[in-house]
Amino acid sequence: MYELRKDYFLNEWVIIATSRFKRPVDTHRPVKRKKRHSCPFCPGNEHLTPPEILRVPTGKNWRIRVFPNKFQAVAYTGTIKESVQKFFNSKTAFGRHEVIVETPKHGQMLCDLTVERIEELLEVYINRIEALRKTKNIMDVYLFKNWGEKAGASLEHSHTQVLALNKVSERKKKELNAFKQLSKNGKCPYCELIERERKTKRFIFENNSIAVIAPFASKWPFEVMLLPKRHIKRLSELKPEELFDLAFVLKKSLLLLKEKNASFNFFLQETVSRNDFHCYFRILPRISTRGGFEEQTGCIINPVKPEEAAKEYRKKFKKR
Ligand SMILES: [Zn+2]
Ligand SMILES: [Zn+2]
Repeated sequence: MYELRKDYFLNEWVIIATSRFKRPVDTHRPVKRKKRHSCPFCPGNEHLTPPEILRVPTGKNWRIRVFPNKFQAVAYTGTIKESVQKFFNSKTAFGRHEVIVETPKHGQMLCDLTVERIEELLEVYINRIEALRKTKNIMDVYLFKNWGEKAGASLEHSHTQVLALNKVSERKKKELNAFKQLSKNGKCPYCELIERERKTKRFIFENNSIAVIAPFASKWPFEVMLLPKRHIKRLSELKPEELFDLAFVLKKSLLLLKEKNASFNFFLQETVSRNDFHCYFRILPRISTRGGFEEQTGCIINPVKPEEAAKEYRKKFKKR
């Protein structure tokens, strides 16, 4: 199969080229375990991280900890300077960069946690996003996770990052603009998308609150989208039972990637502004490699047909 497919809403294209699937698949070799005593995210080493922002529960036996990233990508203090010259535009990268340690157990993966504990983690995500979006000079908040070497995780101990920035990313702007254009008739394109995808082979699973879809123009093999079925623009709008349903599908989706020993990224896409939007999670397994063609064209080659990926996920969701 060789097919050019366009992103649902954006003018971004991928080539689905399944013959390339026969090439050696790049899965993540587990990195050599660091000794527990040298891991700054392990219990007993709390003094190795910057001062803590949040601990759940409070006390010695925590399950989740939040603190500023020691190697932050942004400036925390000072004034914002901006310089605009022909060819040379720059601005202080100001914001907050936090780490959420998801478990005290070194080597435990997010999908190994119970649904209840993943739900508790989602509550911490909401806590941090809501606090950061109200921070002065913050224009947008990005929540993401890197797991495994191929996904850019520098520390093995399972964690999520939140980056709040004095700039809305160009990617987000594009997505918000497309959303605005497509919802002119009053209907949210994501709500409509769920209805349309439900009739296809890319529809993986749904419970009362969340739909799981292998996107039509997936950029990575086994990519999935977790979409709230109710129209909500931010994670914080989910009701407790909906959060539980989200935790369940997140766990199930990540379990398949654990089986595949795949590195992955996931991110939450939502808007912190007044703009309307439909929030979702996107999981990107880093199974294929990218090279010159992708850099040159911005067009991604995906060797796994989303319909085939969906089939595998469906099997995983069926198992109790
Ligand atoms: Zn550790
Ligand atoms: Zn919607």
